[in-house]
Amino acid sequence: MRLKIFAVLLLISSVSAAQKIDRSKGDPKISEYWEPVAPVVTPGKTAQDAPSDAIVLFDGKDFSKWKGMSSPEVKWTIEDGAMVVKPGSGGIETQQSFGDCQLHIEFRTPAKVEGESQGRGNSGIFLMGKHELQVLDNYNNRTYVNGQAGSIYKQLPPLVNVCRPPGEWQTYDVIFIAPRFYPDGRLKSQATITVIHNGVLVQNHATLWGSSEYIGSPVYVKHSEKEKMWLQDHGNTTAFRNIWIREL
Ligand code: MG
Repeated sequence: MRLKIFAVLLLISSVSAAQKIDRSKGDPKISEYWEPVAPVVTPGKTAQDAPSDAIVLFDGKDFSKWKGMSSPEVKWTIEDGAMVVKPGSGGIETQQSFGDCQLHIEFRTPAKVEGESQGRGNSGIFLMGKHELQVLDNYNNRTYVNGQAGSIYKQLPPLVNVCRPPGEWQTYDVIFIAPRFYPDGRLKSQATITVIHNGVLVQNHATLWGSSEYIGSPVYVKHSEKEKMWLQDHGNTTAFRNIWIREL
């Protein structure tokens, strides 16, 4: 106990000593460093446009960066510069695999409101094919909170519901840090995610419990450092556009 009190007193005295330092007599250059120099990146015209170092996954023209989940060809359609999933067209996945990343993606749920709860404009963005950032129309549409738009499905509810009305374009900006594993398969560190929905923070460096599971608990099973990202066909017509990603 005495040792603990001594340690606390030492901490308090060192803090107060630091506060008494006369910084006007110091050399400001001591706390500067000039290398390594940050790479130069040309930003997009707006924050929603791809910067120069981004991999553009969809620019409204073709599916060259994608393939079907159940068949090699993509059965989605391109309409007015957007890729559209319709019931039965199946999920699609990226040709390339990704780990740590910054992702920008825009989505639009149907203007005509049909269904309720999970049945309204449901799709999803599966980071590493495992962690679903839910896409859903939750504008005046209640569902379980850890399954609504902006949630990590069946895990983390969004901090706020910032959905735009049905039929309007919405944005997700994501910073995702992949999980790490030891060679023997044990989990070294959990994945984390930050999500900004329509410019508003909805996931704040949140820790993921594992893969998104419809039934049962999330789980981590050792996988590659990079995995394909996929977009879900959940039986509702949903559109996506302007998808770009930066590897971190
Ligand atoms: Mg979904």
